[in-house]
Amino acid sequence: MNRADLEVLSSCFALPENMVITAIYPTALIVTVDLACDDPTARCPLCQQLSERVHSKYQRTVADLPCGGRRVRLLLTVRKFICHTSTCLQKIFTERLPDLVQSYARMTNRLRCWIEVIGRAAGGEMGARLAEHLGLRTSPTTILRRVMALPTPPAGKVSVLGIDDWSFRRCRKFGTILVDLTLHQVIDLLPDRTAETSAAWMLAHPEIEVVSRDRGEEYASAARIGAPQAIQCADRFHLAQNLTDIVEVILARCRAEIRKGSKPPDTTSPKQQNEGGTQQIPLFGELHADPDPLAGSAHLARHAERSDRYQQLVELREEGLTNKEIARRLDMAERTVRHWLTRGIPYGRAELRRKRSNGFDPFIPYVTKRWEQGERNGLRIFQELQAQGYKGCSSTIYRFLRSLRGYSVSPQGRAERAQAVPEAPLQQFSAQKAVWLFVRDLSDLDETEREELAAIRQASPTADGVYGLVQDFMRMIRRREGERLDAWLEHVRSSQIPELQKLVRSIKKDKAAVLAGLTLSHNNGQVEGQNTKLKLIKRMMYGRAGFPLLRQRVLHAL
Ligand SMILES: [Zn+2]
Repeated sequence: MNRADLEVLSSCFALPENMVITAIYPTALIVTVDLACDDPTARCPLCQQLSERVHSKYQRTVADLPCGGRRVRLLLTVRKFICHTSTCLQKIFTERLPDLVQSYARMTNRLRCWIEVIGRAAGGEMGARLAEHLGLRTSPTTILRRVMALPTPPAGKVSVLGIDDWSFRRCRKFGTILVDLTLHQVIDLLPDRTAETSAAWMLAHPEIEVVSRDRGEEYASAARIGAPQAIQCADRFHLAQNLTDIVEVILARCRAEIRKGSKPPDTTSPKQQNEGGTQQIPLFGELHADPDPLAGSAHLARHAERSDRYQQLVELREEGLTNKEIARRLDMAERTVRHWLTRGIPYGRAELRRKRSNGFDPFIPYVTKRWEQGERNGLRIFQELQAQGYKGCSSTIYRFLRSLRGYSVSPQGRAERAQAVPEAPLQQFSAQKAVWLFVRDLSDLDETEREELAAIRQASPTADGVYGLVQDFMRMIRRREGERLDAWLEHVRSSQIPELQKLVRSIKKDKAAVLAGLTLSHNNGQVEGQNTKLKLIKRMMYGRAGFPLLRQRVLHAL
């Protein structure tokens, strides 16, 4: 190849101007390129004097970007120069090629950039696999080392800081995410969520004017200590979330009230008439004169919801409905229905012992089966159950058998039977689903959802009262009407709904921040978005790498 051809090649490889290709050896997998610097002089790194006296030459192998799908290896001829300055301690020095490759590096600057980008986007393991397809030879360790070597971008001046926690290891270990709410950028990750760590970070940023945070004590105290000059703002997202959680607990506690209140007046079963049809619906105030002992405990409220669902399930079974039909009506898995009928619902330990020792419920499927086989003798069934460990009295069994009377055996009969039991409204009621009907704006609900909401409110005075208060609060959040907070708190106080009293107490403790949250425009909504991105990166890392790498990946995320 003549010199002109080599010059063209040099430009094709986009090498720095002073680098000249002297030869190229392409093979099927790899292209080896001989090259050297053609500057006549080099500068001594110690005394900065130029020298043109070459002492010796040696060769260095450096990996470069792939070319046409083939790996490229640069065979670099490097010169050593003699320094002219008599007083310079560096008698001999090697020429520097900073535009192409760093001293002692095994890859060119531009290949290193590629590896960094791959590492930032895909991490070590996935990055190495991706690199292989792109014609790069590297390892997960090299990629991770490059990512770890990236300098931490300076946080700059933060005026509005969003702070939130994120779960590092599935709700067992938590870290803190810090977001510049003005620039929409993650500025740092902290390895825990203690007040001390966050406060220390804030102390280094005296320019912070607003701290938007959740309602937890840790970040509140961090902001008090670390950024006393800043306004604390209880984030609207978390306010809405607090309220949603509480409403769900109330609805769970009131499941029985909601369901029974909604039963149609013309039910055919006399049993239902006793329980629901003639029941007096208590007035809103009356209902809470004597607070429900279950009120206030989320755990007990959820248990109340489960118990009511179980009650409903047993009733339908006694009516003779099949597991499949019950599962459909209660919107449960058939497997769960079967488990509940054979083992009872998951109770607390003490209740479990009581239920199991005297309980008839686990034997229902067996008795039903015997009935279907044609057994009508109560005493015989009682004895069979005793042999199986039933400890209760025989009257329970007689009562159950009476409820089976008129229950057809054939599948066709079953279907008829199922049809004969009217489908009560709201029998699929689940607090977890219903809570969204309560917090969303009415105009966002479709026809079916509106009907369901109306039915719930009509059935339960508690739910109806809660609905008004929740909607009022959500309006306050959406329209930022902080000035109405006091009036709202007063309404809640007079409603005497115990769970909401707890919310009132906690808001009063943190009132300045809540008011700021309901008045200022700042909002942690974007922090949740950043949190989602963080989770994605965390999952991609298979949880193998530690916090420092995760922090690098998030701060340098593409
Ligand atoms: Zn020198």
